[in-house]
Amino acid sequence: MSFIPYGRQSISDEDIAAVVDVLQSDWLTQGPDIPQFEASVTDYVGAAYAVSVCNGTAALHLACLAMGLSSGDYLWTSPNTFVASANCGLYCGAQVDFVDIDPATLNMDVAALESKLFQAEIDGRLPKIVVPVHFAGQSCDMEKIRELADRFGFYLLEDASHAIGGSYQDVPVGSCRYSDATVFSFHPVKVVTTGEGGMVVTNNKDLADRIRSLATHGITKDPNEMGEEVDGPWFYEQQSLGFNYRITDLQCALGVSQMSRLQQFVDRRNELASRYDELLADLPLTLPMILDGVRSAWHLYVVQLQDMDLRREVFEQLRAAGIGVNVHYIPVHTQPYYRNLGFKQGDFPVAENYYRRAISLPMFPALSESDQDRVVSELAKAVA
Ligand SMILES: *Cc1c(COP(=O)(O)O)cnc(C)c1O
Repeated sequence: MSFIPYGRQSISDEDIAAVVDVLQSDWLTQGPDIPQFEASVTDYVGAAYAVSVCNGTAALHLACLAMGLSSGDYLWTSPNTFVASANCGLYCGAQVDFVDIDPATLNMDVAALESKLFQAEIDGRLPKIVVPVHFAGQSCDMEKIRELADRFGFYLLEDASHAIGGSYQDVPVGSCRYSDATVFSFHPVKVVTTGEGGMVVTNNKDLADRIRSLATHGITKDPNEMGEEVDGPWFYEQQSLGFNYRITDLQCALGVSQMSRLQQFVDRRNELASRYDELLADLPLTLPMILDGVRSAWHLYVVQLQDMDLRREVFEQLRAAGIGVNVHYIPVHTQPYYRNLGFKQGDFPVAENYYRRAISLPMFPALSESDQDRVVSELAKAVA
């Protein structure tokens, strides 16, 4: 029996042709496919500006830098995420802290965020940036978090690495209606892929300009932006310490082609999720819960075992049966690097309790119903 992975990219003949076209063109990087990809995303999500970069981690890093995060500042995020959501704060020299999750949605708990903010205000340690992570593709409750951002004065940076194609209050994730900026990842396991790739979208022109400059060494070639006397037409000016975080035209051509199928991808993921919901309803599992007014992009379909002592056994049995289950996420604060910073087991008990029970099932557009049936029957055997 073939192995069923937990996630897999969907590459069409059109995707392949689009990349081959770039290879035969004048530009492999810094050409016309980059703005075209950015436009395909802003058209879809409704934000005003987009800057595409080499991966989602770089997008988080630059968004934090552009928001002015530096040493002495705090960044808060969810412990139930990939390490990049937190590492971006450390890259800027800031301190990172976490807000525990809501056991129902597995996203940052807004009530916990509120009480932690009140305490931080008393202690004079309010965060400069809060990074809500739209876990598994379900948007956080952004309207409520915006109210807290206005009240306590922090930037709101959405980590929507899982959530392109999803919506909140019937508005696409990435509209930045309630946030200062939103980050996407285009790694192959995510909903849309460019191989490696990432993007920041925002409605704030200053932020977008700063991010674009930082993604290419902090250098400008536009004489209107230069402070110094221009020596000649060859002149460029480095104005800040940026990076080479550029994405290529090869990647963006793939991205444009993929974006044309985003709706299809997310519709299929929603169908598969509903089918899992039905087929798994009678097993001793906690199934995903989606809030009213939210449409998930279903990057992941995570079940929780009611009996946490069985997790390892069930996981191993499924892997042995050729089902590519995975676990998302080991709480970031329990990683050795973060334990060395002072975090410990027990700091964020909801995320830790969830982690002990979690198993991500195969979820990708090309998953067939017969393969999905196989996942369900193997899981039923394993938990019996
Ligand atoms: C994938 C992911 C990232 C990092 O994206 P890369 O493109 O792999 O750098 C950040 N945050 C979350 C939640 C992710 O899932």
